[in-house]
Amino acid sequence: MTKKEEPPASQVPRAVRVASLLSEGEDLSGDDQGDEDEDDYAYEHVPNGDWHTSSLSSSLPSSLLTPELPPHPMDGLPVGPTPTPLVIKAGWLDKNPPQGSYIYQKRWVRLDASHLRYFDSNKDAYSKRFIPVACISRVAAIGDQKFEVITNNRTFAFRAESDAERKEWMQALQQAVAEQRARARVSSAYPLGVQGSEPHDHAGSLELRGFKNKLYVAVVGDKVQLYKNLEEYRLGIGITFIDMSVGNVKEAADRRSFDLTTPYRIFSFSAESELEKEQWLEAMQGAIAEALSTSEVAERIWAMAPNRFCADCGASQPDWASINLCVVICKRCAGEHRGLGAGVSKVRSLKMDRKVWTETLIELFLQLGNAAGNHFWAANVPPSEALQPNSSPSARRCHLEAKYREGKYRRYHPLFGNQEELDKALCAAVTTSDLAETQALLGCGAGVNCFSGDPKAPTPLALAEQAGQTLQMEFLRNNRTTEAPRLDSVRPLEKHYSVILPTVSHSSFVYKTASAGKLLQDRRAREEFSRRWCVLSDGVLSYYENERAVTPNGEIRASEIVCLAVPTPDTHGFEHTFEVYTEGERLYLFGLESAELAREWVKCIAKAFVPPLAEDLLARDFERLGRLPYKAGLSLQQAQEGWFALTGSELYAVFPEGPCEEPLQLRKLQELSVQGDSENQVLVLVERRRTLYIQGERRLDFMGWLGAIQKAAASSGDTLSEQQLGDSDIPVIVYRCVDYITQCGLTSEGIYRKCGQTSKTLRLLESLRLDARSVRLKEGEQHVDDVSSALKRFLRDLPDGLFTRVQRLAWLEASEIEDEEEKVSRYRELLARLPPVNRATVKALISHLYCVQCFSDTNQMNTHNLAIVFGPTLFQTDGQDYKAGRVVEDLISHYVVVFSVDEEELRKQREEVTAIVKMRVAGTASGTQHAGDFICTVYLEEKKAEAEQHVKIPASMTAEELTLEILDRRNVGIREKDYWTCFEVNEREEAERPLHFAEKVLPILHGLGTDSYLVVKKHQSMEAMLLYLASHVGETKHGMMKFREDRSLLGLGLPTGGFHDRYFILNSSCLRLYKEVRSHRPEKEWPVRSLKVYLGVKKKLRPPTCWGFTVIHETEKHEKQQWYLCCETQMELREWLATFLFVQHDGLVWPSEPSRVSRAAPEVRLGSISLIPLRGSENEMRRSVAAFSADPLSLLRNV
Ligand SMILES: [Zn+2]
Repeated sequence: MTKKEEPPASQVPRAVRVASLLSEGEDLSGDDQGDEDEDDYAYEHVPNGDWHTSSLSSSLPSSLLTPELPPHPMDGLPVGPTPTPLVIKAGWLDKNPPQGSYIYQKRWVRLDASHLRYFDSNKDAYSKRFIPVACISRVAAIGDQKFEVITNNRTFAFRAESDAERKEWMQALQQAVAEQRARARVSSAYPLGVQGSEPHDHAGSLELRGFKNKLYVAVVGDKVQLYKNLEEYRLGIGITFIDMSVGNVKEAADRRSFDLTTPYRIFSFSAESELEKEQWLEAMQGAIAEALSTSEVAERIWAMAPNRFCADCGASQPDWASINLCVVICKRCAGEHRGLGAGVSKVRSLKMDRKVWTETLIELFLQLGNAAGNHFWAANVPPSEALQPNSSPSARRCHLEAKYREGKYRRYHPLFGNQEELDKALCAAVTTSDLAETQALLGCGAGVNCFSGDPKAPTPLALAEQAGQTLQMEFLRNNRTTEAPRLDSVRPLEKHYSVILPTVSHSSFVYKTASAGKLLQDRRAREEFSRRWCVLSDGVLSYYENERAVTPNGEIRASEIVCLAVPTPDTHGFEHTFEVYTEGERLYLFGLESAELAREWVKCIAKAFVPPLAEDLLARDFERLGRLPYKAGLSLQQAQEGWFALTGSELYAVFPEGPCEEPLQLRKLQELSVQGDSENQVLVLVERRRTLYIQGERRLDFMGWLGAIQKAAASSGDTLSEQQLGDSDIPVIVYRCVDYITQCGLTSEGIYRKCGQTSKTLRLLESLRLDARSVRLKEGEQHVDDVSSALKRFLRDLPDGLFTRVQRLAWLEASEIEDEEEKVSRYRELLARLPPVNRATVKALISHLYCVQCFSDTNQMNTHNLAIVFGPTLFQTDGQDYKAGRVVEDLISHYVVVFSVDEEELRKQREEVTAIVKMRVAGTASGTQHAGDFICTVYLEEKKAEAEQHVKIPASMTAEELTLEILDRRNVGIREKDYWTCFEVNEREEAERPLHFAEKVLPILHGLGTDSYLVVKKHQSMEAMLLYLASHVGETKHGMMKFREDRSLLGLGLPTGGFHDRYFILNSSCLRLYKEVRSHRPEKEWPVRSLKVYLGVKKKLRPPTCWGFTVIHETEKHEKQQWYLCCETQMELREWLATFLFVQHDGLVWPSEPSRVSRAAPEVRLGSISLIPLRGSENEMRRSVAAFSADPLSLLRNV
């Protein structure tokens, strides 16, 4: 066998090695195919990628072209991100055969200080196996020139060419192991990554093209390591590792795939998900950054011995630092320092943040550093609370919170607690070279910006400058925004969310205007912007005069940013701008030349101020992003802070509690209004099943949001789908008109044929186009003909028409099909092809016209007449031929078939219009504030703005359905014995009537006066009433009550006008009033079914007891009579009311099971919650009776 010796790598510049590899290695994957043993991984199937020699020189990082670094100066310590270690020995060896085979495999084996690796050939860059020297427990000879490398779990056998050769290998290996152990002993206090897996930056399973099974991949420092599986990863024995100093990662075409390219090979990975891919890309980019970092600063700072170990956990070679605390820390502690926020610790890398490390700062670290830092911050650490290099993240977090945020372990300054003295002492200290004193004073609460008493040098910084103390200045500057530690400190971020903001860094020149205190109404000219060097780092956006300036002109802390908005391009003098709103009600406008640069900044700032909780919001191109106080769902008592993003006409929201919400479709809102006074505005957004209140606690960003949301909620163009849309995708403008005509115009003669007044029609149409949602059509204000004309005008003017330009002709042609059945099926076919909004609108309109022709006896508009009007309108023709009219006529005539209307739907529709027309005939619908639409305001529990709900009330809706709908919208769960009921409250009468669950709401709504409203709340007496009824035959009741008649209505009632004792008998047909118990003939008698019973008697009438109720009787001539009745006790009152309910509703007082069948959209969420059992088991009854403590004896009375 031939032996090839590879020259020690350190003597050959890497570029040369690369070049030589390439000149020979046309096939890098080796040539001994098919030898895959259980350990070996061949790259045969891995494509070599598209890498070419010609691109090498330009694409290689500069480090690759320089000779390898000399051995590390900190020899004897485990080495972190490293140059490639020296090769101790390399050569060809035979590796023992895989199971079932006798043929030894020739492998190129290479040993360096940390790894034993073997390769297919000496040309390969990537091994088939690597065994960390630290994992080798023993090396043993086993005859026949063979030797074994034994690890804890696995043994690798090799055969050398000769005994001498074997001896050399064994000696080299044994020496490497011994040296490794010596190193481990030196750093034994900090046994970092001795065995098995080192702490990784990111690890997990990945598919690698060319491999059957998924590999376990770990990104560790500057390397990407490949393992066969998780078990091997734990053992530390892997396939190969990729030095990322020559790596480059980029996304592949496939969503989950990405390529790690090196000059030697392309590794094509595939992650589980897009999100995971992002994480991998980020981790690998981090490894590249680490590989390319330089340790020049680190070497200098490590010159002071205490700086060689992490100030917090003692890990060796810490390459991070907190520049305000002035301590050097390890990577893992640095992560937790970041979590403390920049107000506590400003974290920088010794290796990557090269610009930060000025000579002054380095000098400061040499003078203070870990020795002074821990002398102060860690003066009193109980051993039980001390950190180790391998401490868990939570222990680390805990310790660092205590150490720096709370100052728990610090050495208290003698002046601690005396602010004035502390400040004075600071002013004195900064003029000296005593940095440790300054550190102690600041750490004990001295004010970094306190007033020195000297107007010429008002601050400690100015004093230090005056005294020429540059290190003091540097230290003070770095602590300008540091918060003094406090034992009771509230973690600043926990006010809103208990998570850590990610650190984002970005810097470039940006153009910026002076900050403003109000919204930018007009265009900012290019001249108003000044060029500034902007740096986003550690949660602070700073802007400097130029890139060399040390002191920023100003700073915005990410935690203070409340909103980030992106105006449409060309709003200002710079094509691309973005606005930053702060908690302090300032608005900063930034401008950039390119969209790309602007987007990058927006992305970075967004990442810096949005917590992980809401980072999903960043996935979209938002126009506005930020946090706002809101109320929604159940939490109406207290506003909370939520995160919102506006994208197009969708408002995405993330609430701190509760699941992710569907975005609000702003163009589909039922209501969008601003309520409250100018001091405390509330933006109310009502969607079909939810209501959101956004509160204007901060004026500036609220106004910005308000404008943006209003704009997004408005119609955005002329086509149907760009209109504000209502339920079921019908444009609100169409819906409003159709609804109004349905309410007020069905019986109007010549409806849709007669024209309205042109000026009124146009004015109406204009306001509808502007914001249809806010237009309330009211009878008396708008004539039905104006409204019908506005609707026709709108449809006629639609640029694309209701039936669309493309399909219009096909519809007209269809009307000529002679066979009716064929024609109808053709219409159905065409209908299915219309865009959804058009289709829904056609259906709504034809359904409406179908209703109109139902009343053709009164309105004279039969199907044919309607078709003559609507044909040319909808098809935008001149009406010369009847084809268009024919289509409309057909659609109305075949309405049920064409639109697949089922019987139930049709029945409801008929019921609805019939109810409306009846009510109109009865005259009750006129003059109420609700005429014109079916939307009604219902309150939850009490009448106040936050408790408002706007509900569309179909004719069939019962009080119970309304109640459930309200509870549903507010996410109120129904518990047992919660007798939620809808009440009609009459403010003028100071009385309220619980609606019976089966009562229809619409007629009540139409009868409501302006001083009445509906409220859903718990019926407090219902349980007592049910118990009373359960123990009685509830058909009759008789007894004495105090009585008074309404004199104002009758004009003649009782002479005194006061309350008088009367005897009453209530039975299933009548309420009778007798002058006294013995009277034979009733003085008055009312039919019980026509009575409405209200709880309460208005105070003006001076009711003799507080247990009163008001009975209203409406005669057939719609005359109202009112009686006021008062009982002696609450129980008495409840018994009367219970009896009323019982006789009026045939004993059905409370629903025995949820009657939610007829609800439009059955809600799964509440579907399984049973309502209150009316008559439960015996035990339940007994419990209820026991709970009923008010008057237990009353149950036994009157039996
Ligand atoms: Zn540490």
